[in-house]
Parts: sequence; C-alpha cells; structure tokens
Amino acid sequence: MTSPTTSRPKVVVIGAGFGGLAAAIRLQARGFAVSLVDKRDGAGGRAYVYRDAGFAFDGGPTVITAPFLFEELFALAGKKMADYVTLVPVDPFYRVRFADGRIFNYNGVHEQMLDEIRKFNPDDVDGYNRFLAATKEIFHIGFEDLADIPFGKFGDMVKIAPAMIRLRSYLSVYSLVSKYIKDPDLRVVLSFHPLLVGGNPFTTTSIYSLIAFLERKWGVWFAMGGTGAIVDALVKLFVELGGTLELGTEVEQILVERGQAAQATGVRLIGGRTLPASLVVSNGDAPFVYKNLLDPSVRRRNTNGRIDKLRYSMSLVVSYFGTKKTYPDLAHHTILLGPRYKELLSDIFDKKLLAPDFSLYLHAPTRTDPSLAPPGHENFYVLSPVPHLDSGTNWETEGPIYQEKLFDYLEKTCIPGLRENLVTSRIITPQHFHDDLNSEKGAAFSIQPVLLQSAYFRFHNQSEDISNLYFVGAGTHPGAGMPGVLSSAKVVDRLIGDRDGTGNQLDPIAGTHAPRRLPARA
Ligand SMILES: Cc1cc2nc3c(=O)[nH]c(=O)nc-3n(C[C@H](O)[C@H](O)[C@H](O)COP(=O)(O)OP(=O)(O)OC[C@H]3O[C@@H](n4cnc5c(N)ncnc54)[C@H](O)[C@@H]3O)c2cc1C
Repeated sequence: MTSPTTSRPKVVVIGAGFGGLAAAIRLQARGFAVSLVDKRDGAGGRAYVYRDAGFAFDGGPTVITAPFLFEELFALAGKKMADYVTLVPVDPFYRVRFADGRIFNYNGVHEQMLDEIRKFNPDDVDGYNRFLAATKEIFHIGFEDLADIPFGKFGDMVKIAPAMIRLRSYLSVYSLVSKYIKDPDLRVVLSFHPLLVGGNPFTTTSIYSLIAFLERKWGVWFAMGGTGAIVDALVKLFVELGGTLELGTEVEQILVERGQAAQATGVRLIGGRTLPASLVVSNGDAPFVYKNLLDPSVRRRNTNGRIDKLRYSMSLVVSYFGTKKTYPDLAHHTILLGPRYKELLSDIFDKKLLAPDFSLYLHAPTRTDPSLAPPGHENFYVLSPVPHLDSGTNWETEGPIYQEKLFDYLEKTCIPGLRENLVTSRIITPQHFHDDLNSEKGAAFSIQPVLLQSAYFRFHNQSEDISNLYFVGAGTHPGAGMPGVLSSAKVVDRLIGDRDGTGNQLDPIAGTHAPRRLPARA
C-alpha cells in the first residue's frame, strides 16, 4: 500500500525547467514527497510561454527530438503521453537559406537529402554516406551508452577513453564533417547542430554530431499547442502524482549542515521561509547555484575560481512577434545564414564582440498549428546568437536597436511587409538569461559543450561535497537541449535509486520505473 504523503521523505527541486520537471516526476513516482519551486510565475524555465494579443509564443525550445524521453516520464506513472499532448512530425526539419538565397531543405529522408546534397555538390554524396555511418557509431556510444549514466568519478572517464579516442572525439564537429565533405556550404549545413545546444561547431567535441543522427532516427517533432503544451502536460502529471508546485518562489540558499560529511537539510526562500528536505535537487544553472546558493565553505571543488575559469556558451537575442498576415511559403523552422560563418562564431565565442551581421533561426509555429495566433495571423520568433554578458553590451539600449536590425533583415529576406503587418513584439536579451533565469554570464545554454567540459568534466549530477545534493539541467552531464536535460534527470533518478538515503526502502506511487533501454537501434 502507498504511504501517505506526510510520511514520505521530502525532496525539494529548485527550478521547473525540463530538467527539474523530469526529476520531480521521477522522484515523486519513486515515492518521495516532492516540492518543486520556481522563481518565475510559470513553469518551463527557458520554455516559458509569453502570451500577447492572442498569440502564444514559446519562449525557447521548439525542435523536439527523442520524444521517447518525454514518453518515459508518463510511462513511469502508468500513463500515456498521447492522452496529455499531441506531437506531430515536422518536415523539413530545417530550411537552410544561404545569404545568396540558395535553399537546402534538411530532413530525415535519405533520398531527399542526397538530392539536396547533389544540388550543391554531387561529389559529396559518397562522403555524406560515410559521414552518416560515422555519426551512427558516435550515437550508439555517445547517446545510447553514455548519456544517462553518471560520471561522478574520474575512473568513469578512464573507462570510456578508448571509445572516445576511437570515435575521434578530440576533433570538433566541423573538423569531423570536413573529413567527409568538401563543399564549404555543405560543411555548414552538416555542422551547425552544436549551436542548438550552445556550442561553437569549431570547438564542440565531435560527439555532438550525434544530434544529426538522433534527428534522423526519431525525427523532429512539434507539440500541438506549442512546447508550452508539453510543459503543461508535465506539470499536470506531476500534480496528479501528488507533487506540489510553487511558482513565484525563489530559493535564496541551500541549507547545509556541516559535520564530518556535509548534508543538505533543505532550502531557504527569499522572504525567509524554509523548506526542509532529505534530498535537494537543483535545476538552476549549476555555476550560478554553486556561486550564489551555497556558502563557499561547503564547496571545496566548485570554488568561485574554478567556476570563473569555465567556458560559457553563447547567449541569444530572441524577438517574439506576430503579424496580421500569414506567410504560407515559409517553413516551420528556417535557418537564415549570414555572409560569415567561422568569423561570426569567433566574434561570438572568442572575441565576445557584438557583430554587425548575424545568422538567424526563424520559428513560424503557425505553419504547423494555426491556433497559436488569432485567425489569419502568423506567430514568429527570430533568434540570434550573440556573445554572453562579457561583451559588455548595454542591452537595455542595444536591445531595441538590435530588434530593428533583425526586422530589416527579415523584411529583405523572407517576411516582406513585416513592419506594416506587425501586431505585437517583445525581445529577450542576454540580460534576461542573467536576471530572470539566474544564469551565469547570461549564457543561454550554461557552459559550452567542449571536450574538457563534457562527461566527468561537466558539473556532476551529484555534488562532490554534499552527498544528498543533486544537479540536473543544461550545465550538468550530459548537457543542454531537451534530450540532454531529460537525460540528466534520468541520471539523478538512478543515483538516488529507491532508497531515501537512510537505507529505508521507498514505497513507489506509480509502480515500477521504465526500463532504461531505448527504442530499437537503427
Ligand atoms: C531560445 C532557445 C531556444 C532553444 N531551442 C531548443 C530546441 O529547439 N530544442 C532543444 O532541445 N533545446 C533548445 N534549447 C535549449 C533548451 O531549451 C535548454 O537547454 C533546456 O530547456 C534547459 O532546461 P533546464 O532543465 O536546464 O532548465 P531551465 O529551462 O534553465 O530552467 C531552470 C529554472 O530554474 C529556475 N530557477 C533558477 N534559479 C532559481 C532559484 N534560485 N529559485 C527558484 N527557481 C530558480 C528558473 O527560473 C528556471 O525556470 C533552446 C534554448 C533557448 C534559450
């Protein structure tokens, strides 16, 4: 029989991003009494939904890959995801538009991809086939075998070192692509994926070329009602399991009892209220949480000095806007490449310079789900990678100027008459990531996915100094992006197991946990 909530060990999860929601659901299903708190007035974290003038703008993630990672959460509770939210396939996955107007329609249908490659350079067809074979092997090791296991000990890293060397993970994604592909434009098309998780394709470990394979294998999906509909579904599931969600509730400090082994005892909220807990899980940005929510005296490893030396991902300007006209020729996802690639990325990642040019991602979700705008209207967001706050840009003054530049470019390239049809617009800048989402340096994807910040070298899912403090989310292993943060929750679930830390067996609410194995291999 399931024990009453009051007698179950308490867990506080700080942050209701996808990582926090997934961890909260998993632990609640295991039999803990979970309190999930978030400082914002809505759940989802980066996937917060902005509602203006009848439009529902997904704030962040829009490209859904590996949907089974969401399905698993419902299965844990003995439920079916399809009863909560409907996912539909998106085709093309991306329409890539070069600065000179040429188009590459990128999808998961092999023959169609070969046709697109031929259009650019017939000599690269064979190389593309070999590149795919390489990404398949990387995927089997990098995702299937490593994404949801803990990397808490250096020995864990040593064990995988031979496979990492064999897979040439010391190469960057761009270098790996260049081993197979000669055409400079095709190299861009096949190497941009790290940008989806905040990495520079020229420095991100080639392990991340597994994203391309992941998309081919399971497709690219969109949730009807937007990504916000997935957030709502997860919140509903969590509450149905008996979990408690408190929004507008910011944690000021993780409380730690110092003894021979330091232990977290709960959290103190802004305003002074405390929430006691047997275990604490943080979904806040790991570097920010270490620096601001934990006293330096209780963290020997994650000192401010170490955290300040890490390499942080890019940030973003995102403009959300609606028009009173529809644009049926647009694809759901368009990548608008500017004139520079490597040099622009170097400005963003190395020089921390706000460049005069840009490469953009344009989201037009009403191409798939018209209900996200009033009838006859189009819902958009345009996203521009920019340096994080080390650029020194004053975003309060620069933000509106930057938005006008984005609109100029969109009017010229793919949304003619944008301004005369504009109904509403708002922007977020690196300052938002810092101020509203508590992210170190205003980085949009926490620390970069370079080799020396991956697996064991990324923030661990269990604190090295406080054994009942756990971390999920973009800055932790395995990394940013929805599949990454959902996998981080899986790692924490596994680390905690079905004992409450005192050796007592838990009394699961919803039966057994789903098996770890993924759907059949390709
Ligand atoms: C514009 C944009 C587009 C993206 N597109 C995609 C995409 O298409 N596909 C994809 O897979 N990924 C995408 N990503 C990446 C992906 O969205 C993120 O990596 C992922 O959602 C981060 O989840 P998280 O679990 O780290 O939590 P976050 O979303 O970072 O949420 C953390 C939460 O913690 C809360 N919090 C922090 N500190 C405290 C505190 N002290 N007290 C209380 N609450 C606190 C914050 O308010 C926040 O709600 C995109 C990201 C952005 C920004």
